[in-house]
Amino acid sequence: ALTAGIVGLPNVGKSTLFNAITQAGAESANYPFCTIDPNVGVVEVPDKRLSVLEEMIQPRKTVPTTFEFTDIAGIVKGASKGEGLGNKFLSHIRQVDAICHVVRCFQDENITHVSGTVDPIDDIETINLELIFADLETVEKRIQRIEKLAKQKDKQAMVEYEVLLKLKETFESEKPARIIPFTEEQQKMVKGYQLLTMKPVLYVANVGEEDVIDPTANEMVKAVKRFAEKEQSEVVVICAKIEEEIAELDGDEKIEFLQELGIEESGLDQMIRKSYNLLGLATFFTAGEQEVRAWTFKAGMKAPQCAGIIHSDFERGFIRAETVSYTDLVSYGSMNAAKEAGKVRLEGKDYVVQDGDIIHFRFNV
Ligand code: GDP
Repeated sequence: ALTAGIVGLPNVGKSTLFNAITQAGAESANYPFCTIDPNVGVVEVPDKRLSVLEEMIQPRKTVPTTFEFTDIAGIVKGASKGEGLGNKFLSHIRQVDAICHVVRCFQDENITHVSGTVDPIDDIETINLELIFADLETVEKRIQRIEKLAKQKDKQAMVEYEVLLKLKETFESEKPARIIPFTEEQQKMVKGYQLLTMKPVLYVANVGEEDVIDPTANEMVKAVKRFAEKEQSEVVVICAKIEEEIAELDGDEKIEFLQELGIEESGLDQMIRKSYNLLGLATFFTAGEQEVRAWTFKAGMKAPQCAGIIHSDFERGFIRAETVSYTDLVSYGSMNAAKEAGKVRLEGKDYVVQDGDIIHFRFNV
């Protein structure tokens, strides 16, 4: 499964947030294959469509899909020079698919800040620079290896050399690789380098309790948003402390508490949703009287691959995917009505599954 790693300087609220994640954690009975790694928190992906389907179909059981967060602890400053636990920190980041970068946007005199003052942009840059330096080293090594070939006019090497120089120049001006508009071909090449700064980033602005209602009043949050916009990254505002409290509540209690606070969706739920989108993930549903269930797939996947997410037999013996879109199903009110209206399609093996599709797979055993 794809995972987002939680990183940040010390004392910004990572453990508090990760604690909220594991508290809110998915009911393990529904997900017997989930990892039991203590650094991984498995959460259910909030999706209002699932409760609409549940209401319509009244199944015995409703199962949301899940998403994984990985807690990446460790000392950050000097990581790219291999100081302390630095190398380990970088290798953990290399293994995740997206980065949730927690930044401190709360003032609290009792909680020391590593560099003395609370300055979220400075914090962001501290971590980003370590990642950029590590990538610069990767790229310089590669340059050394192919420079000669490129100068001898080897076609392939010349193409790659150009990409490498662009990367090097970007890193030297202290910018991440993800801001470079690569062509599709170049992107494939860059993928092979496994650069840390190519990973999509979600900045998680951790604000104090007093800022939850109106985070726009917080100057630090504004600064983080401006920064993120420049590098086309996303921001989510949370209060880790409150999320910890919310995580202990269930269903109705949670809704009530959020109403009291005057917010619609918890910060953690927003964080889950945004991380999910950041990774290009989407959801299809299976719906029957036994079970209504959401499944995660990677946007662009075709019907047989999606069938394989449920069971490898479904992919091997795939015949057809009986498919109706969520909007059609909801507007016709029932599966039968949608069928009569000709909204249930029989799709074959080349069908690209769409977010919100409700699918019944037909397969040979
Ligand atoms: P970590 O080092 O990044 O894992 O940070 P922790 O989660 O241990 O948090 C450091 C301290 O900040 C702890 O004392 C937390 O209770 C406190 N803290 C975390 N989030 C908030 C917040 O939103 N508001 C306030 N006032 N304190 C917080």
